[in-house]
Amino acid sequence: MTRLLVLAGPTAVGKGTIVRRLMERHGDGWVSVSATTREPRPGERNGVDYYFVSDARFDEMIAEDELLEWAVVHGEHRYGTPRAAVLRHIAAGIPSILEIDLSGARQVRQAMPNATFVFVEPPSWEELVRRLEFRGTEDEDERTRRLATARMEMAAAEEFEHVVVNDDLDAAVDAVHALLVEER
Ligand code: 5GP
Repeated sequence: MTRLLVLAGPTAVGKGTIVRRLMERHGDGWVSVSATTREPRPGERNGVDYYFVSDARFDEMIAEDELLEWAVVHGEHRYGTPRAAVLRHIAAGIPSILEIDLSGARQVRQAMPNATFVFVEPPSWEELVRRLEFRGTEDEDERTRRLATARMEMAAAEEFEHVVVNDDLDAAVDAVHALLVEER
């Protein structure tokens, strides 16, 4: 069966970087593009990084059952995984990755229990705080909010079959890639 890999983990742990690097190095998978109601950051492209949609459109996606899962992330904006694209890629035999939050991962576990669930952990809490500050894309209030969510998310690592510590990026990419393509 083609793999569906669900990648979760706290803010700034490097999920996005792992997925980007994995696609550059291997290019043999597909990464789901989520819908979100948040505003694009500078440089983000609609349909590539996210589908940036209005609240009304997001409501419609929920009503029409177009989302495999969705959640309010960091207490603010809604994010969700368009279902049709995921099913299409899996049916075509293309290993697929969802990079979503903890609540989304739990919903996918209900809907698709055969998926592979991977939690990305930082080497330490201090390192996570450092990475979030270094990234510099959030102001202090937003960082505080994200770290509060991160504390809760870190406690849920044990729900996941696989934990990858993002200490050395290349090693983390290799570990995630192996989970994506290796036979069970
Ligand atoms: P950001 O705003 O930094 O791009 O993303 C914030 C968080 O939203 C990330 O931690 C990411 O895991 C989560 N996220 C992105 N897309 C989805 C989605 O489709 N569903 C859920 N549940 N979470 C998502």
